[in-house]
Amino acid sequence: MAGPCAVETEEQLLETARAVARAGASVLRGGAFKPRTSPYSFQGLGARGFELLSKAREITGLPVVTEVMSDTYVDLVAEHADMLQIGSRSMENTALLKAAARTGRPVLLKRGMVATVEEVVEAAEFLAGNGAREIVLCERGIRTYGTATRNTCDIAAIPLLKKLTGLPVILDPSHATGRRDLVAVLSKAAVAVGADGLLVEVHRRPQETWSDVEQTLSTSEFADLMEELQPYLRIWRDARAAVWAARA
Ligand code: PEP
Ligand code: MN
Repeated sequence: MAGPCAVETEEQLLETARAVARAGASVLRGGAFKPRTSPYSFQGLGARGFELLSKAREITGLPVVTEVMSDTYVDLVAEHADMLQIGSRSMENTALLKAAARTGRPVLLKRGMVATVEEVVEAAEFLAGNGAREIVLCERGIRTYGTATRNTCDIAAIPLLKKLTGLPVILDPSHATGRRDLVAVLSKAAVAVGADGLLVEVHRRPQETWSDVEQTLSTSEFADLMEELQPYLRIWRDARAAVWAARA
């Protein structure tokens, strides 16, 4: 899953969407409703962003994942999104979890920034218990005393959450590190521990992005990453095949 932090303009979204599709992404990401820590930061285009996301879907054929921040807007977002993203700041919003589940849309549940693994499992149970059939969990780093990276990437949470829930688990190496130069290496680490996917921030001109500039990959960096991941994916597949062959 790849795309800009936020939907900004038609040119920005379409160019980025085309590039990530070409590079092999299977889902387009992009926030219309943005949960920003600072009230002085860009808050997203809101519902106006959906028109652009629909256009990008039409052009690329990629399904769209976008954040829903409030149960008030859940039906509106569900109308326009192929998958509902529950952001880190919303993981504990049980009214939102229930409302999102009831739409019947697949849900991407991001780990709360101070949530334990057990609390992520409980949030997923809120979704499952209220009718969500397709749930994907996302490790995105947690807040610790470490300040070298934006968050502390809890790589062990990936296999642990898979084991505890049986659900697909992906990594967002962009928010987990906040550093462009660490996105590729953490993506490889995620593949190595069995992650089912990645959520990566990509922009046609990263230096011009309106949010999360430090962690955003250019479209060519993303294409390189997709290439570099191939041997890691092969090793993982071969290792599993070897285990099955040994058991047979
Ligand atoms: C995002 O992925 O758009 C986002 C805001 O991330 P998080 O909720 O993990 O902070
Ligand atoms: Mn972002």
